[in-house]
Amino acid sequence: MAPPEARSPTLEDARALLHAGESLLTPALERARALTRNGAAIDEHQVLTERMAYAATEARAAREVLALAESLRVEGRGAAIETMAVSAVGDLIASLRARLEAAADDLGLGDDATTLPAALRARLRATTHEARVRAIGRDAIAARGRTEPPLDETLEQVRASVREFAEKEVLPHAERVHRRDEDIPESFISAMGELGYFGLSIPEQHGGHELGNLAMILTTEELSRASLAAAGSLITRPEILSKALLQGGTEAQKQHWLPKLASGEVMVGVSVTEPDIGSDVAGVKCRALRATENGRAGWRIQGPKAWCTFAGRANVLALLARTDPDPTSGGRGLSLFIVPKEPASGHAFEQRQPGGGRLVGKADATPGYRGMHSFTLTFENWFVPAENLVGEEAGLGRGFYLQMGGFAAGRLQTGGRACGLAQAALEETAKYVAGRTQFGKPIADYQLTQHTLGRMALRLLQARAITYAAAREMDADERAAAPLAAQAKLLACDIAVEVTQQGQLMHGGWGYAEEYPISRYVVDAQVLPIFEGVKPILELKVIGRSLLGA
Ligand SMILES: Cc1cc2nc3c(=O)[nH]c(=O)nc-3n(C[C@H](O)[C@H](O)[C@H](O)COP(=O)(O)OP(=O)(O)OC[C@H]3O[C@@H](n4cnc5c(N)ncnc54)[C@H](O)[C@@H]3O)c2cc1C
Repeated sequence: MAPPEARSPTLEDARALLHAGESLLTPALERARALTRNGAAIDEHQVLTERMAYAATEARAAREVLALAESLRVEGRGAAIETMAVSAVGDLIASLRARLEAAADDLGLGDDATTLPAALRARLRATTHEARVRAIGRDAIAARGRTEPPLDETLEQVRASVREFAEKEVLPHAERVHRRDEDIPESFISAMGELGYFGLSIPEQHGGHELGNLAMILTTEELSRASLAAAGSLITRPEILSKALLQGGTEAQKQHWLPKLASGEVMVGVSVTEPDIGSDVAGVKCRALRATENGRAGWRIQGPKAWCTFAGRANVLALLARTDPDPTSGGRGLSLFIVPKEPASGHAFEQRQPGGGRLVGKADATPGYRGMHSFTLTFENWFVPAENLVGEEAGLGRGFYLQMGGFAAGRLQTGGRACGLAQAALEETAKYVAGRTQFGKPIADYQLTQHTLGRMALRLLQARAITYAAAREMDADERAAAPLAAQAKLLACDIAVEVTQQGQLMHGGWGYAEEYPISRYVVDAQVLPIFEGVKPILELKVIGRSLLGA
């Protein structure tokens, strides 16, 4: 069936819908602020806070989709994504409205929470009408999933050159690394180092390229399109440590470490999580005790850590440890260390120091995200020189704060990873449905297939728009960008999970076969909402707090 309206909705309609959605959100947030006493009582209203955090994220994504489409229109390059953008905005506002509907009575707003004039409701239905989404799906299939928005010249060059590298160097190895859970080939790391991929957002004065966070995101996206685990995630850890160093490192530490991170000479593992401490980072128990070794001042690390990705290959671990023994010191008792170790291959390692220190690592088997391997670690009197405490004496007790700053960069980076993975799924699925025939015709010709592909494409546009906006905001003001980076991570990771699973369904039984890359994309995507703030914690304690706080 064709859409009932004679006039097809336009960007102007999308703008009106965005305005309406934001007008519904504003009083809802005000009520939520009052109910949670400016965020102090979030735990008494967790479900409500989660709904508000997600609704606000959807509103922000809608705003960014519209801004992207409008800027391309001004440049005369927007035609291709305008149709998609209108539906993408409509989809977000419809979802936001459903969330407010669920919260309406708790907010004390009743019908007012979602009431829109009839004409606007009709426009909302028109933007997401199934015939419109099917048309988007047909275009996506015809373009074999290549629906990315155009960029400016420099960024197009970045995207094209990384794509070429990823297709030539990473793609041929991606399946093997995944299926055999092999180590990432050293050639990836050295080539990425030579190409400058690790230093894209590091300032030039510290050996980086300072091309900015959007270039870093596009690089990440293209590498993740080839393989999330074997290439796309290599930049995350240096990003986290370099941001922490830029915020809290001494000048000498910046000069020593940042060029090594930018060149890929030093690979990093990030070690925050412990076997019984995950989301409650302030509760970290792993101890760092003052010590001297051969007359050298430093610290001894003592205790277990968990889920430290890339800890084997890494030359250093960015480790959060308790320097204040008083357990009531919470986050104020934590400091961040750059812990040197020898790079090791494989799934297990044991290292000893001349002074008696011992470090044991054993990878935990996982269904996806293979290649980097995530390790449970045991530190026994592992010595770290005093100059490796980030910020040195002034950094004592600042570890929690610096780690959180690093995580904001990690979350932005993960938004890029999610977009790349979803892009891979869209392309593979478009290719598959065009080639698969059932009941005498290609499954791409069926309405439901087109509708699914259309939704995959417009969801991906939503993920990209908010992630690119977060990257730009991070360039302008790192600290202020943290909540938006968290929102980008939240939405883009959910979208990657959804899009990969939809793609798998479109492959039928073959989507479950390891032979088809879509099965890898599905298991890889599932980790995205877990790390760098598991989804419920991100919603409540990062996005919720920033929205509802005084
Ligand atoms: C493949 C992989 C790689 C990883 N890599 C790294 C790494 O390199 N470095 C690192 O440090 N960590 C890493 N992690 C760890 C990851 O960051 C943690 O798993 C994550 O932070 C969640 O912690 P947790 O697993 O202990 O879950 P928990 O904190 O135990 O949370 C489990 C669930 O409990 C609920 N919950 C907990 N607290 C609350 C609350 N206050 N309110 C409501 N609900 C709550 C939520 O539903 C949550 O999903 C990795 C994890 C995986 C799976």
